Amino acid sequence: MVSKNDPSKKGDVDKRDLNNPGEDEKSAPVHFIRHVIDDDITSDKYNGRVVTRFPPEPNGYLHIGHAKSICLNFGLGLEYGGKCHLRFDDTNPEKEETEYVDSIKADVKWLGFNWGNDLYYTSDYFDRLYEYALELIRRGKAYVDSLSAEQIREYRGTLTEPGRKSPYRSRGVEENLALFEQMRDGGFSEGQCVLRAKIDMASPNMVMRDPALYRIRKKNHHRTGDKWCIYPMYDFAHCLSDSIEGITHSLCTLEFTNNRELYDWILDTLAIYHPQQIEFARLNITRTILSKRKLISLVSEKIVDGWDDPRMPTISGLKRRGYTPEAIRDFCERIGVAKRDSIVDIALLEHCLRQNLNRRSPRVMGVLHPLKVVIENYPEGKTEYLDAINNPEDPSMGKRSVPFSRQLYIEQDDFMEDAPKKFFRLAPGREVRLRYAYFITCREAVKNERGEIIELRCTYDPKTRGGDAPDGRKVKGTLHWVSAAHALEATVRLYDHLFSVDDPAASADELTSLINPRSMETLDGCMLEPSLAAATPGARFQFERLGYFCADSRLCLPGKPVFNRTATLRDTWARIQKKKGKAG
Ligand code: ATP
Ligand code: MG
Repeated sequence: MVSKNDPSKKGDVDKRDLNNPGEDEKSAPVHFIRHVIDDDITSDKYNGRVVTRFPPEPNGYLHIGHAKSICLNFGLGLEYGGKCHLRFDDTNPEKEETEYVDSIKADVKWLGFNWGNDLYYTSDYFDRLYEYALELIRRGKAYVDSLSAEQIREYRGTLTEPGRKSPYRSRGVEENLALFEQMRDGGFSEGQCVLRAKIDMASPNMVMRDPALYRIRKKNHHRTGDKWCIYPMYDFAHCLSDSIEGITHSLCTLEFTNNRELYDWILDTLAIYHPQQIEFARLNITRTILSKRKLISLVSEKIVDGWDDPRMPTISGLKRRGYTPEAIRDFCERIGVAKRDSIVDIALLEHCLRQNLNRRSPRVMGVLHPLKVVIENYPEGKTEYLDAINNPEDPSMGKRSVPFSRQLYIEQDDFMEDAPKKFFRLAPGREVRLRYAYFITCREAVKNERGEIIELRCTYDPKTRGGDAPDGRKVKGTLHWVSAAHALEATVRLYDHLFSVDDPAASADELTSLINPRSMETLDGCMLEPSLAAATPGARFQFERLGYFCADSRLCLPGKPVFNRTATLRDTWARIQKKKGKAG
């Protein structure tokens, strides 16, 4: 499948990817929304214009599900030479905060997208929305209802029974205008009345049974202060905001399918510019949850350490974990856009991450569970600097020098006292290669009084400098290591999936009981190669044989580094694909 659009004509985001193509990156797959837009361009429906929008409600931090919507909306804007607006859907004064607005802007930018001058707030339209409401009343298409919220629910009927008309439905235009004005002026208390559309109480679509358009909320709004005490409902504000901004394609998730009828009704009844609502399936991912409400509860109940906890599926959490915007965009492209809900294996997200990190991450050596090694025949006090390749995938990343000396650290599990034949690492009498350094042979394991191995006594072969033996002798294992005298001591946090079940949202159990108890493990006293002392917060590395890590952006203090494990090296997605016989 190849997009008919020339990728070289795409905007900045895609150009950057083209400079750094992955082995298995391909042009954007065609999906049904691209088909709709192509058809609209052919038929000149919107004079060839493509204007989309990303409309977050500023009541929480963005998550990877929002990234799908961002990539789709901004991506289509760029691809078709149109644009994408960032619009804060701030119609609910109760839950919205400036902190969220700021984080959302930062996250969209970090993902690599740009709204240019097209930054909007639904609250900027409150005056115009009020005018539209008056117009609906004048057309006899809206009325002030004085039933209580509970009565309105009762009157609404059910999926199998039609609703009943409110006794206030027949109020005249003048009375409605006066009451609505009184609502606006604070003449009623919260819940005393609402403005409703006058549509059809018997409609099979419950959304069309005289939906509420405005309600009273005597709350301070983060942008309009106390100017308003009535606030428009989402369904009313959204289509009108789209219309005001000249949006062409208004993309939303499937749960709004029934609301499309209302979207169309409002715009048609007012006879104003009419964008097209198109629904697509929301993103779900295994081992995590993508619902702001539930994510908020993880934060407020302190189950995680804030919105940017590296286990969170939030953009800020993924960023702190070491994810790259390129990996997230690649993932969003690969999952495609469908009309049916599904759940994507988190292994695919991690696969996209590894693909990207593999290309860009400098390799370093670090030992997470140190075991001391003394090279008995290496001179005391001597240090050699050995050449190490920064990235075998990218020779332009050059080399660095790594210090080698008489005392080293290796990984505890790279040694076994009674090793089976197939154990290709270190054991008494066995020889291995130390990466970029020498062959060493283990002579003795020293134990403490409790019988624990505390040190290995080894010898090295000086003729094997650089890692090969001139006599052609082979060793099966290559270990990473760090010189003890030069090591940088650090804390390393190992992260794993936040939940221990595939679909926590579908489980009847309490969310907290589904948290993976091993989702975070803190290791103190890790020994890293000294070059990492210069790592800036957020810098990413591959620790050879261990995985991808990044310097924590919040906890790193000078001399007290903290690294997060972004991902292990084991690509379960590639394995799953291989099993399915699809690997290519
Ligand atoms: P949540 O259900 O997590 O609270 P929301 O839909 O209420 O999310 P909004 O701020 O209204 O959050 O979302 C902004 C945009 O992002 C909407 O257009 C919405 O459809 C889209 N979006 C939200 N979650 C997802 C998801 N999981 N997959 C795809 N798009 C999403
Ligand atoms: Mg929403």
